[in-house]
Amino acid sequence: MPSTDTFTGYLGLDANSVNGNLVKGTFNPKVFSDDDVDLKISHCGMCASDLHTLRSGWGATPYPVIVGHEIVGTITKKGKNVTQFEIGDRVGVGAQVLSCLKDDCYECTHDNEPYCANKVYTYNSKFENGDSSWGGYALEGRYPASFCFKIPDELPSEIAAPMMCGGITVFSPLKRNGCGPGKTVGVVGIGGLGHFALLFAKALGADKVYAISRSDAKGADAIAMGAEGIIATQTPGWNTKYARKFDLIVSTANNSDMPLGEYLTILKPGGRFVQVGLPESPIPQFGFGPLINMNVHLMGSLLGSRKEIKEMLEIAATKGVKSWVTCYPMEEVNEVLKLMDANKARYRFVLTN
Ligand code: NDP
Ligand code: ZN
Repeated sequence: MPSTDTFTGYLGLDANSVNGNLVKGTFNPKVFSDDDVDLKISHCGMCASDLHTLRSGWGATPYPVIVGHEIVGTITKKGKNVTQFEIGDRVGVGAQVLSCLKDDCYECTHDNEPYCANKVYTYNSKFENGDSSWGGYALEGRYPASFCFKIPDELPSEIAAPMMCGGITVFSPLKRNGCGPGKTVGVVGIGGLGHFALLFAKALGADKVYAISRSDAKGADAIAMGAEGIIATQTPGWNTKYARKFDLIVSTANNSDMPLGEYLTILKPGGRFVQVGLPESPIPQFGFGPLINMNVHLMGSLLGSRKEIKEMLEIAATKGVKSWVTCYPMEEVNEVLKLMDANKARYRFVLTN
């Protein structure tokens, strides 16, 4: 049974909500436990996953839903087991709000919480007792403190908020797959996640980072984010020039209509292609050639561990990584949803209360 407390947020009531039809209303958060905190939400970034969920693109969403998983807010209430935070602390919450955290869970004891079998997502998910989870397009939220992260003082809230999902989702595979000095890294899809991949690949010390985009329209922006240049895949034969150049490619492409087989041809032998974008339709067909002739690895990645989230925030603070954001008052969320669906974000929209 959820709590009888009422919080206010912007509810998606059906698949049409994605077209700018969220409704302001109340919801009952999870029952308050000794391990939880309540937040007054000040900022919430808008991730493409919010759109997929609102339109039931990944399967039927159990409405009503409140999306948003790039949250920053201040703690207004804390359970008695919460010793790491004080009332008034500014914390961030990403796309995962819980995992089992048990001593006998291999993933939870090895900094791999996103892959715990009993994870709970920030929205569209259920806690063990059956209570629904609710996202950050809201004025307030209730979350387990174990998945809240203190935001370093150097990071303004609008800069930190979109890192909580968009940032960590690319930081984790960059880190885990050797991004650093001596490496050439490609980033497919220069949207919210993609812009973070360029920024964090540079912050992690990669020698050369390239944007791999459908056209060269975002070229100047990509260079300003630290890229050597932009590779436009709409030009036939684009890949020939880049054969065997890349150690690692992180793909944030949000549509299956992508030249996956061609992307693989630009990896070095043994190179890695990590897909993080999650289109609504299946992976495109591609030949076995690159996998076998070039020994390339094709893999995916989900969010990042709690340890990686802390490390990312620390690196962002010390190296001055700055998200490219446009802020809007949260009351304008319906207008902003339409802008986002029309691919107008450069590169993240952040809602503010
Ligand atoms: P954005 O819409 O901001 O960016 C997506 C980018 O994908 C676009 O900017 C575009 O880049 C590229 N793209 C779109 N269509 C195609 C196509 N046909 N072929 C190649 N590239 C294409 O979305 P986000 O960055 O917010 O999210 C990206 C994806 O990541 C979503 O599917 C989201 O659900 C998923 N996601 C996955 C997570 C995980 O843990 N794995 C966590 C968070 C999000 P360009 O214009 O440069 O070609
Ligand atoms: Zn997200």
